[in-house]
Amino acid sequence: MLTAIRGGRVVTPLEVFDRADVLIENGSIVAVGPGVAQGEVEETIEAEGQVVAPGYVDVHVHGSAGHDTMDGTREAIEGMARFFASRGVTSFCPTTLTARAEAITTSVRTVHECQESPIEGGAQPLGVHLEGPYIDASKKGAQPEEHVRTASVGDYKDFFALGNIRLITLAPEIEENRELIPFARSRGAVVVVGHSSASYEEMVEAVKLGVNHATHTFNQMQGLHHRKPATVGAVLLLEEIYAEFIADGVHLHPAIVDMIVRLKGPEKALLITDAISGAGMPDGEYELGGQKVVVKEGAVRLVDGTLAGSCLTMDQAVSNVRRFTGRPLKECIQMATLTPARSIGVAHRKGSLEPGKDADVVILTPDLEVATTMVGGKVVYRR
Ligand SMILES: [Zn+2]
Repeated sequence: MLTAIRGGRVVTPLEVFDRADVLIENGSIVAVGPGVAQGEVEETIEAEGQVVAPGYVDVHVHGSAGHDTMDGTREAIEGMARFFASRGVTSFCPTTLTARAEAITTSVRTVHECQESPIEGGAQPLGVHLEGPYIDASKKGAQPEEHVRTASVGDYKDFFALGNIRLITLAPEIEENRELIPFARSRGAVVVVGHSSASYEEMVEAVKLGVNHATHTFNQMQGLHHRKPATVGAVLLLEEIYAEFIADGVHLHPAIVDMIVRLKGPEKALLITDAISGAGMPDGEYELGGQKVVVKEGAVRLVDGTLAGSCLTMDQAVSNVRRFTGRPLKECIQMATLTPARSIGVAHRKGSLEPGKDADVVILTPDLEVATTMVGGKVVYRR
């Protein structure tokens, strides 16, 4: 069956067509460009006056709509997936927290099950982002300290058993954790520096071992000093590294967002939400890894005031980064689509509107509000 999205401003995102069509067949994109939707089209979606972009890809997100990856249930992943679809997200990596091994393994298995039998009417999980437990306790943020530990095979082998770990955030300055880097790479995982005090020199070594991605740049990593460039200096300067950042206006000053994007470029800077269960919910008290967190006025904090994830959504992140940096729309969309897809090695299927790729599409109003979200050629959300 042929579906056409007609007449929108198409941001692929590497190219922009002021008025073009996207033609979809059997869940894949078959053509993109002006006037390609000729002939026998069974379903037409009019997109005149709207922006047509690839669906957003969020590689670091704990929860939303009252659900958390650590709930370890299909219901939780489905609830998250449906909420994300309403915010333009078509793929995501459910993100775990520092916890007991059994709790992490349960979540990894649940995500695997959702990958094997896809979720109806929502974004699709692309595998797990393990955030911790092998981090530096002094940079724990909202990660429960009692479960922080160093990597050991006995502890982590079950995490990797199903082959669905897409990313693992760790502190590479700790020797035992460093030994896990080649193993994680061999299992197809991206190794991410985060919750870390690594020096610049330790980061240079970590990159040689295979680290090429950074968790929420600046937050919970050793900061920049003119005689100690440290973790942040390395993340900003080493070209290999993809830099996640949280553009909620709370975790980072808008000028720092601008700095990250200028230094890394839209090819290496990527938007994440790091959202927790309180995202998409009213202000109030929620839970994160057994700890009480308070959602108030767009921020999530532990009782002691430590930031504990966000209640950011991807559509908002795209609007914010545009406002904070003044960059062209195509670059802002690139940082929510193609760059995250490339960073986790799925850009052959995801992250841009090109023939042969999955028909994961978001249609946006001129104000970048989500009007329609499509996953694999099926509409999963309509405003
Ligand atoms: Zn996180």
